[in-house]
Amino acid sequence: MRQIVILGGGTAGWMAAAALSRFLPANHRVTLVESATIGTVGVGEATIPQIRLFNASLGIEQDSFLAATQGTIKLGIEFVGWTGPDSRYIHAFGTVGRGLGLVPFHHYWLRGQSGALSEYSVAAAAATAGRFAPDLGRPDLPTGLTWAYQFDAGLYADLLRQHAEGRGVARVEGTVAEVARDPLSGDVTALIMVDGRRIAGDLFIDCSGFRSLLVGGAMGVPFDDWSRWLPCDRALAVPSEVTQPIQLFTRATARTAGWQWRIPLRHRTGNGLVFCSTFMDEAAAAAELMGGLDAPARAEPRLIRFTTGRRTRAWAGNCVALGLASGFMEPLESTSLHLVQSGIARLLQFWPGEHIATADRDAFNRETEREWTAIRDFLVLHYRANTRAEPFWQACRATPLPDQLATKLDLFRASGRIVREGDELFTEVGWLQVLLGQGVHPNAYHPLADAPSAGDLASFLDAQRQHVAAVVGRMPTHDEFLRAATEELQ
Ligand SMILES: Cc1cc2nc3c(=O)[nH]c(=O)nc-3n(C[C@H](O)[C@H](O)[C@H](O)COP(=O)(O)OP(=O)(O)OC[C@H]3O[C@@H](n4cnc5c(N)ncnc54)[C@H](O)[C@@H]3O)c2cc1C
Repeated sequence: MRQIVILGGGTAGWMAAAALSRFLPANHRVTLVESATIGTVGVGEATIPQIRLFNASLGIEQDSFLAATQGTIKLGIEFVGWTGPDSRYIHAFGTVGRGLGLVPFHHYWLRGQSGALSEYSVAAAAATAGRFAPDLGRPDLPTGLTWAYQFDAGLYADLLRQHAEGRGVARVEGTVAEVARDPLSGDVTALIMVDGRRIAGDLFIDCSGFRSLLVGGAMGVPFDDWSRWLPCDRALAVPSEVTQPIQLFTRATARTAGWQWRIPLRHRTGNGLVFCSTFMDEAAAAAELMGGLDAPARAEPRLIRFTTGRRTRAWAGNCVALGLASGFMEPLESTSLHLVQSGIARLLQFWPGEHIATADRDAFNRETEREWTAIRDFLVLHYRANTRAEPFWQACRATPLPDQLATKLDLFRASGRIVREGDELFTEVGWLQVLLGQGVHPNAYHPLADAPSAGDLASFLDAQRQHVAAVVGRMPTHDEFLRAATEELQ
């Protein structure tokens, strides 16, 4: 397993190339094949905080990253219009409030009914105020912040390419015409290019995008279609002019038959409408997208077709799919690049020695399935718990839920409890903010939250809100932060 071939030079391919060249021993050789004729999907700008670990593991520092990618700081996602025209809430990163002993914070908040939940989250309050600082240098005023980025995915791929090529990754430009396989094992032995070149390898990483040329195509792994739960199947993407101040959050606004994203970068704003073609045609979708921009468009909208779901096995034979080649879930919670990142981490965890052990491959596939399914359920929650009147949204409310999500909803409604399953990506506070934001309210709070007296509870809650306000009030604006971070590096 010394000759590694990555098929595809989109974000997934270059993330894999940068990481493998960083972590594999020197006797491994990594080759990346990409086709200028086919190009990349060209979207994927909003992330979750784990991206910082990925960059750090490659030695990419925050300031140089922000400078190279026209990046901005992201503290969460603002959801607008999901439970009525003026409804809005933030799913912010990091903690919300501080609990006591074994009882999570939100039970005290449910009992005390004092202020909005977002007033207890530094990330939510800072996002709303347009302020950011990783820390204030004041031990008495910890920010407790965790943050992600919004950035130009094309520039990020360029940055990763520099790192990968700097560590010896060989890049082959051209289009793969055929895949050669071993007649006995069925494993892929080489990619045959249109011009006849042959790229041989031991292990192949399929980053070929929606085509899924190796895992879906050559290995024939079936696609598990999840559109019965997540029926949107089209996106129209369009960049628009920058609006000031540049916001610290991605916005997801519910529309007639889907939702619209808005991702603020420093050189442009990324926008798109994710919609369901059963309920809306492309012309109407384009009109809705363009009518919902808050600044002039810089181009015509570009259509991307997709089906939500995943390859039932991400690793088949000697091929491992990452990125769109392994499946797709809409960017409602900005999880796709994270799935590439966690797929790479898992692959390194299960990296084969001389041969691929079936048990390793199976374990890799089981863990991948668990991770995808939990994220799917979190996305389905947004659609299910809506109160909009349009036929699309009515149909979403009528769709039967996946079992695990139904159990989670029952538990929360009954007692306000949220149980994080295994190491699922979204934490209890992530679920909490979306559940409450989407209008799902519990019938009870934890009985132990009745322990403090009414007066003690009020002081406990007040102190927490004052801390959040004091921390955020001392932060510089996002613009000041970005200027200081990137000025010398431009
Ligand atoms: C509408 C939409 C919005 C999204 N928004 C977000 C977001 O906000 N946040 C997020 O994390 N993710 C988002 N994503 C997902 C994100 O864009 C992808 O996960 C990411 O770009 C990785 O794509 P990829 O590298 O797998 O595929 P691609 O970018 O499609 O790259 C495929 C590569 O394979 C090559 N290739 C294919 N066939 C051949 C061949 N025969 N020969 C040679 N080369 C070949 C292509 O040339 C290309 O280099 C979004 C996706 C969509 C569709």
